[in-house]
Amino acid sequence: MAKRIYLNLAHMSESGAEMKYIQEAFDTNWVVPLGPNVNGFEDDLQRYIGHDKQIVVLSSGTAAIHLALLGCGVGPGDEVIVQSFTFCASAHPVTYLGATPVFVDSEADSWNMDPELMEHAIKERLRIKGRLPKAIIPVSLYGMPYRIDRIMEIADRYGIPVIEDSAEGLGSCFDGRELGSFGQYGILSFNGNKMITTSGGGALICPSAEAKQHIMFLATQAREAYPYYQHEIIGYNYRMSNVCAGIGRGQMTVLNDHIEHHRHIFDFYREMLADVEGITVHGEDFDPRFRSNFWLNTITLEPSLHVKGEAEAYNHAVEGAVGGAAGVVHSSGQVHTSCEPNANVEAMRLALDRDGIESRPLWKPMHLQPVYSSNPAFVNGVSERLFRQGLCLPSGPCVTDDDARYIVEKIKDAIV
Ligand SMILES: *Cc1c(COP(=O)(O)O)cnc(C)c1O
Repeated sequence: MAKRIYLNLAHMSESGAEMKYIQEAFDTNWVVPLGPNVNGFEDDLQRYIGHDKQIVVLSSGTAAIHLALLGCGVGPGDEVIVQSFTFCASAHPVTYLGATPVFVDSEADSWNMDPELMEHAIKERLRIKGRLPKAIIPVSLYGMPYRIDRIMEIADRYGIPVIEDSAEGLGSCFDGRELGSFGQYGILSFNGNKMITTSGGGALICPSAEAKQHIMFLATQAREAYPYYQHEIIGYNYRMSNVCAGIGRGQMTVLNDHIEHHRHIFDFYREMLADVEGITVHGEDFDPRFRSNFWLNTITLEPSLHVKGEAEAYNHAVEGAVGGAAGVVHSSGQVHTSCEPNANVEAMRLALDRDGIESRPLWKPMHLQPVYSSNPAFVNGVSERLFRQGLCLPSGPCVTDDDARYIVEKIKDAIV
């Protein structure tokens, strides 16, 4: 088997629409962080998200979260409630601002922020600090919606703005409405591995034209209206390049096909793994209002399920950071941390890897990360259990039915 099957690869349109828009950018000399592709991509996204939202495209999803926090007035000494079970980019911009992420654990069915625990966290922080958190960041993990009806109801009752981290959830819906359109702000990511890509990029979904104007001002170094450079507040260089936006416009033509394919691969895994005791494919059936884009399909392995090579699973240190961060060499030389996936999960990952299949543990919860070990955290054990038991499987347009069949076969082969 020469071919390697990856988790989720960038996939350009068959029509070559991306190249057409890039060529236009070069032909018209719009090789700058503004121009027709930037405006066109924003219009496309605005139509897609609907609900009178305004879109600003940016250099990354992380930048979008940073600006959303500024839009909510977050500053030094503030607290922000962040879903613990997530990628670090949901929390880091809070830290950039000198504020403190307060982590809240997940529900067992959606894997996303537990609304009851969230309310408990709000009350506790108010009691201890005498102040309410400044914002709440739920995350659509692997594309699965959060219980946004409950989250909004509670957040509105306390008057706290919600920033939806829908970086992984473009095209996911709750009760027929697009994620990212419920909160004060919503964020999207177009990194190379997301639902669609601009090579790297993101978007901020804003509540009004006025908010969009303010965000664009912050994203372009906060230049005041004078014939010379006049600065009265601190700004950032976060706008998307017109070349990247060209890729985005092209990708919008295949977004719905991508979502359909991700959902198709989910159906495939679920059907083919239905009879395997000890393995569960994470689905959306627990609530008819949930519609996931299944950005990454995920499975959990019961601790009682035994996998070949389990005893040796952690014998070797991995080299290089997970996710292959562009040539970064940062070897720890260590094999264990204080919280890691169960040995059967690591053995499954290694077995699939030997067969040319990339898989990956679920996000390690932020409250278990050394860098956030002293942050306030409201935990219920759900995200830690899922982290110990879960794996992400190849998903998306590059995974064929034959690939999915092969992956399932190899999963079954690895079981003792
Ligand atoms: C990818 C991602 C981000 C950040 O997006 P970038 O475009 O990579 O900066 C934020 N939150 C979550 C949950 C993500 O998966």
